[in-house]
Amino acid sequence: MSSPDAPAIASSATSGPDRHPVRFDFENTYARLPERFYARLDPAPVTAPRLVKVNVELARNLGLDPDALASAQGVEILAGNHVAEGAEPLAIAYAGHQFGHFVPQLGDGRANLLGEVMGRDGVRYDIQLKGSGPTPFSRRGDGRAALGPVLREYIVSEAMAALGVPTTRALAAVTTGQRVLRETALPGAILTRVAASHLRVGTFQYFAAQGDTEGTRRLADYAISRHYPEFAQEKQPYRALLDGVIARQARLVAQWMLLGFIHGVMNTDNTAISGETIDYGPCAFIEAYDPDKVFSSIDLYGRYAYGNQPHIAHWNLTRLAEALLPLLEQEAGDQEAALASAKEALAAFEPQFEGARMAGLRRKLGLFTDREGDARLVQDLLERMAANRADFTLTFRRLCDSVAGPERDQGVRALFADPGAHDSWAAEWRRRLEEEPVSWQTRAAMMRTANPAFIPRNHLVEAAIDAAVGRQDFQPFEDLLDVMSRPYEDRPVLERYATPARPEECVRQTFCGT
Ligand code: AMP
Ligand code: MG
Repeated sequence: MSSPDAPAIASSATSGPDRHPVRFDFENTYARLPERFYARLDPAPVTAPRLVKVNVELARNLGLDPDALASAQGVEILAGNHVAEGAEPLAIAYAGHQFGHFVPQLGDGRANLLGEVMGRDGVRYDIQLKGSGPTPFSRRGDGRAALGPVLREYIVSEAMAALGVPTTRALAAVTTGQRVLRETALPGAILTRVAASHLRVGTFQYFAAQGDTEGTRRLADYAISRHYPEFAQEKQPYRALLDGVIARQARLVAQWMLLGFIHGVMNTDNTAISGETIDYGPCAFIEAYDPDKVFSSIDLYGRYAYGNQPHIAHWNLTRLAEALLPLLEQEAGDQEAALASAKEALAAFEPQFEGARMAGLRRKLGLFTDREGDARLVQDLLERMAANRADFTLTFRRLCDSVAGPERDQGVRALFADPGAHDSWAAEWRRRLEEEPVSWQTRAAMMRTANPAFIPRNHLVEAAIDAAVGRQDFQPFEDLLDVMSRPYEDRPVLERYATPARPEECVRQTFCGT
């Protein structure tokens, strides 16, 4: 670690004294956990860092000065060339099931946790550099990230936050001035990621797989104190932890489904204990509705297909329950009781997921009450959308107009290959709406908070990345971030961002780019 009294790099790199010294009020707790939880090491320096973007609003919410982060000294910190005062950089150890196969040691192979800061919201946040060089967990990887995937994570994670989905955030992106070798040589970059924590299902598996029950307990206690402090008082805090993670994951995956989001790599090491969406790789949003949709080039068998996500979330949570069994056993009395406790906890996933999904779908359709037949009405629409390749996002957004009356149906009808398939469903929908004494204006207003006008459509994300990587033109990236900052607002001038890809623009596959 560089010494705290080292000269500020900004004063040597910029003219005059540094008016914006970088100050993180680091208050680190992970670094207090036993040494076997991580490897301490500094980020590896890069040759010529340059700022791409600082997330001004997020910086302020973290008590950070965005101008300081954008200063020469700030960029040196964001690039890993200078270790900020108070940081205790480390790479976290974890394991995980990747596509169903257990890998006992994964860990941060290209990431570095600088430390934790308290947000203005009273939540403790990790500040992590991703793409910051090799670590003891790098295996055969180079520890680096290419600019394209860094921009993709920046755009999509910020879009998810604006859409109201729990997610890690992007605080900043820098280029490194170095090339990373993938299929071709690509410009390197580093993302500064902010997360409520980087605890994963795989972190628990790491200790459980080694029979390290004491490690599992330390981790569980840490997770409780950080994410579920109220559970510390429960008679069975570890069972409560399991219940809590299951509840948050059920809600999270329901939100993904309601927005047409496909994570793409729902491995257990990419499943956060905090309930945040984490590790944006070959993720994508559905356009033409298709429950079997897969974008990721490496998901050959559709394990992580859109419609399989709730099933996979349950599978991942079952792995968490297994890892917690020794702790549950101490709470429940014996092995059999622990198994019963785990099963009972896991059984809550499906009803919680379905409840959150149906509540969201009711809002999407403008329904204020819960009536028999609603699930069938929804299912009927989804089936017709699938058969007619209707755009998922636009169908729901245009229903916000249709709610005024059938004379406003043109927009949504046009999305169906056979508009008649829409019409017969819409007649049912209107009968259902009539059962509630609610004005169409009130319905439309609610629906517009549940049905975004804008999602980061895959071709727009690709275009932003291509411009940045191919021509050092970051304007499309900036423009897309701006559009995605207010996804529920109609902005007619931005029609191009709201409409599906033309056939020649259509992105059929995404790549994780690691
Ligand atoms: P991911 O697919 O990004 O969730 O990563 C899975 C595992 O591979 C994690 O342990 C990562 O740290 C590691 N990994 C991914 N890319 C690299 C890389 N370029 N160098 C080293 N490790 C990597
Ligand atoms: Mg990962």
